[in-house]
Amino acid sequence: MSQSHCPKGPMTTAIHAGEAPDPATKASAPPLHMSSTFVVEEAAGFSAHDIPEDAPWLYARWGNPTVDMLERKIATLEGVEACLCTASGMAAASAIFFTFLSAGDHVLVSDVSYAGVAELVRDTLPRLGIEATVVNMSDLTAVAAALRPNTRLVHAETPVNPIGRLTDLAAVANLAHEVGALMSVDSTFASPMATRPAEFGVDLVMHSITKYIGGHGDAVGGAVAGSRELVAKMRGEASIHHGGILSPFNAWLIARGAATLPLRMRAHEAGAMAVAEWLEANPRVARVIYPGLTSHPQHDLARSQMKNFSGMISFQVGDTAKGEAVAERMMERLEVIHYAVSLGHHRSLVFWMPTEGLMESSFRLEGAALEDYRAYAGDGIFRLSVGLEDAEDLIADLDRVL
Ligand SMILES: *Cc1c(COP(=O)(O)O)cnc(C)c1O
Repeated sequence: MSQSHCPKGPMTTAIHAGEAPDPATKASAPPLHMSSTFVVEEAAGFSAHDIPEDAPWLYARWGNPTVDMLERKIATLEGVEACLCTASGMAAASAIFFTFLSAGDHVLVSDVSYAGVAELVRDTLPRLGIEATVVNMSDLTAVAAALRPNTRLVHAETPVNPIGRLTDLAAVANLAHEVGALMSVDSTFASPMATRPAEFGVDLVMHSITKYIGGHGDAVGGAVAGSRELVAKMRGEASIHHGGILSPFNAWLIARGAATLPLRMRAHEAGAMAVAEWLEANPRVARVIYPGLTSHPQHDLARSQMKNFSGMISFQVGDTAKGEAVAERMMERLEVIHYAVSLGHHRSLVFWMPTEGLMESSFRLEGAALEDYRAYAGDGIFRLSVGLEDAEDLIADLDRVL
């Protein structure tokens, strides 16, 4: 639950943080504890409201040793005190919203975000009496103007799905704190190898650990990392009462993936850079968005806020008809890259995201906000998650379908 003190390099941290040889068996690899309940040796309360941090294991919805190991690993990677793991990335977002917001509160959220978060914010929060405003978080004037005295939370996402626009975390965290709001960020695209948002003043960092942190496309999970106090509040609400806990088996798989996160992120970045440069030089490609390219409109911010440009590329091929035709060819002809949603896996994944469809289902932007989105995405973009295959094979695959 809380941070293990591990002031070591990132590769050592990713492998060892949260783990120790099993005291019972001396096993070097962490054990997988599937037990849902634990034998109690002395009387203790079992309300979510008064669990001390050193409480013995009681029931897996309160905490489980294998999940706890992953929580300590992620907290250490993010450089914060504590972490709560959840059943999915969406459960992590819900843990933030439903722990820290009540009826009558106002929340400010990026106008472009992971689609599930966009729909939760637009449909579910208002139904519960929580006012949500969406704003382009790369526009600091707009962020400042949208804050209100009852704003309790500012939730950003950087780089943002699916268009790769960035948020200046330090600047937005400052604005949020000026009105007494918490600042949270969905840092799934960046991973802790690119950005440790707490260093920029962000209070809560969430991840879909289904993506880079797990890294192998075989386990769904989520995480929120932050101070001991904020994480304890979320554990009481979101885990113990709402119940969306991470399975120990998924925690074990994701921890095994996380051990190689620093190495994988370096390879994702190198592969993505090669593919992005090839795409940018290709006359059949209209626009490429990758934070590592000097053509990214916020390349300077990317350089100052990201130590690794990650593996997520967005690119346009022209109008809707052209995009649909390329998507069709991808489904038929790709040999290496999978035409599938999700991202951050060792396998490369690509998916067509038409602007009109996304506006209807998720983002519902109009006027200037829609124009801002179209400046990145046009009629639609392909979201490419560059995996760990050889870049030449990915380029050959793309060359077959563009
Ligand atoms: C995938 C994703 C989510 C949701 O995560 P799940 O694990 O699928 O629930 C949230 N935010 C971002 C940026 C994502 O990519």
